[in-house]
Amino acid sequence: MEKISPAPLLDALIRIPSVSVLTNRPLIEFVENELSGRGWNFLELPYHDSRGIEKVNLLATPPWQKANEFAVDLALVCHTDTVPYSAEWNEAAAPQVIGDSMHGCGACDVKGFLACLLAALLNMPEAQFASTIALVLTAEEEIGCVGARYLLQAGLLRPRHVVVGEPTSLRPARAGKGYGLAEIRVFGTEAHSAHPAQGVSAIYRAAKLIGKIEEYGLSLGNASVAESAHIFDPPYTTFNVGTIEGGTAKNILPGECMFLLEWRPLPGDPMGQIPGIVQGMVADLQMNDPGFRYELNVLREQPGFETAAESPLVRRWTEISGRGAIGVPFGTEAPLMSTLADDTIVLGPGDMRTAHSPRECVSLAELDLCVAYLTELLEHPMEPAP
Ligand SMILES: [Zn+2]
Repeated sequence: MEKISPAPLLDALIRIPSVSVLTNRPLIEFVENELSGRGWNFLELPYHDSRGIEKVNLLATPPWQKANEFAVDLALVCHTDTVPYSAEWNEAAAPQVIGDSMHGCGACDVKGFLACLLAALLNMPEAQFASTIALVLTAEEEIGCVGARYLLQAGLLRPRHVVVGEPTSLRPARAGKGYGLAEIRVFGTEAHSAHPAQGVSAIYRAAKLIGKIEEYGLSLGNASVAESAHIFDPPYTTFNVGTIEGGTAKNILPGECMFLLEWRPLPGDPMGQIPGIVQGMVADLQMNDPGFRYELNVLREQPGFETAAESPLVRRWTEISGRGAIGVPFGTEAPLMSTLADDTIVLGPGDMRTAHSPRECVSLAELDLCVAYLTELLEHPMEPAP
């Protein structure tokens, strides 16, 4: 059997545009086509987005496993969508090899990993598979893991171990920070600025609250951090006030000020913790300013994930690749998938620092290494037989 290499597969995958807003069906069908020649079974889990466009999650299993049975040793999870790209990037869906790397939208996030999965799965004869597996493709990861949430709701997938594809330069990422975003609206009372005592500035109030948030963030940076947090850089929850707006004119005390507060919590931090802390800060401010009024609207709150350093999957991938475990600062489907499995890791070829930009690329040598490592993972059971 002729060995299938990942580069031509990646070239073909990049040529199928799959920006989150589009239907991902063409990409799903490409994968089905590749695997159906080997008799794989497919279960499509389609849904429609808010604009009525079809999105498809796919569960695929090899022909020697029972069809539609997804209680498996290992799930290989990969999202199918990409972020949007600028109209000036002519080669976004027309990949080019420059030097040792393939460039194009999705090259490393995350069609590179998908190409490696397909190559590994297509090249391996049945007898070499040591574990039961499922290939899991999801839609709309880049806009908030929408597809993965539908997939979990369906309740079909029950893996012991999960590998989630994202570019980590092939290092096993065993932890990821969570993500929180809230819109905070602070109210004042408008008045002519020549008579400030007639009103209350919402901007001054917001500034005091923001000052407290900044102080709190700095205090976390100065506090001693837990051993387990050292996998992250920086090893504590970080905050950002990304935008602020308020007021109507230079000579009016502003009646309203709104800002966006973003935070990236450590795994294990309870949901609602940061909104609760902000509430406490406002209570402090109300001691001197009983009329301080505000609204806090949580727009997003996702937990992080953490897999033990000694877990079978982390140990195996470290042995295979010779690469040490890391934590990732970016969002992935791992927190969702980790609710299903004993252990979850994130890995894939390429570097996220090139992703979400026209610099996106992946090294061809790393693609080949990834196929070799995946093959090794699939060829040996996760734990030695008792
Ligand atoms: Zn991704």
